[in-house]
Amino acid sequence: MPQWNCNCPNCRAARKSGNFLSQSSAAVSADGKAWLLLNASPDLVTQFAAFPLLTPRGRHLRGSAVQAVVLTDGELDHTIGLLSLREQKELRLVCTRAVKTLLTAEFPLLPTLGKYCHIRHSVFPATLAGLRVTALEQPTDKAPPYSRRPARRGEVAGLRLASLKTRRSCVYLPGLPAITPVLDRFVSGCDCLIVDGTFWSETEMNALGLSRRSARDMGHVPVGGPGGSLEWLRRLDIPRKIYTHINNSNPMLQKHSPAQRAVLRAGVEISRDGQTIRL
Ligand SMILES: [Zn+2]
Repeated sequence: MPQWNCNCPNCRAARKSGNFLSQSSAAVSADGKAWLLLNASPDLVTQFAAFPLLTPRGRHLRGSAVQAVVLTDGELDHTIGLLSLREQKELRLVCTRAVKTLLTAEFPLLPTLGKYCHIRHSVFPATLAGLRVTALEQPTDKAPPYSRRPARRGEVAGLRLASLKTRRSCVYLPGLPAITPVLDRFVSGCDCLIVDGTFWSETEMNALGLSRRSARDMGHVPVGGPGGSLEWLRRLDIPRKIYTHINNSNPMLQKHSPAQRAVLRAGVEISRDGQTIRL
């Protein structure tokens, strides 16, 4: 936010205040030295530049503290940044087989990137950078718009990342197509839950005249209302709960709006660029 071609109230306010929000991505580390990148956003280059711990160190001319990139899905806003990582010799990539198929057969990002650097792919569970990464394949019938095929199992995953040393864990769910009992078990006992806050309401994009599709049509449970994710978060006994992946149309981004107040009152945080979470 602001989206380059958007004149909605939130984008106008962001241009005025300078409080910009880049696209959703996160880096996680067990020791502050070796990092995993969770999704590769189109804003990756500026996100890296703003976070000194990812700066190359040591005597080598080239290098990165990022040991691997872990993908939750094959959507453009989570994968386009991979192209900006082409300057390294080898890219370690962790994603489901279904996501790898999307990025090979439907949107040939990996074959293209493979011409620039060697791609070493592995699936879940994975142990990397002192972290155990497990995935939950979430039920979805929404394939990415570029795909010619109906959605398949494994195209949207939630991640649970646990430190091998401290056992502290975080669940990363930037896409929330449904709230299920299996998901409840997956998040149970974690220290921090970072979750999809794309839309406030089912009809938010329709009301602004931006889309005819509803939030759930686009694969996102909305935050507000009955059956929304805020209702779900309220009943979860998890110390830190944080919304991420928030669309520029979402009223909870407006300071002191009823939507923002409802989220904060429920003890849920609204993520911001550069936010550090220590567990
Ligand atoms: Zn906007």
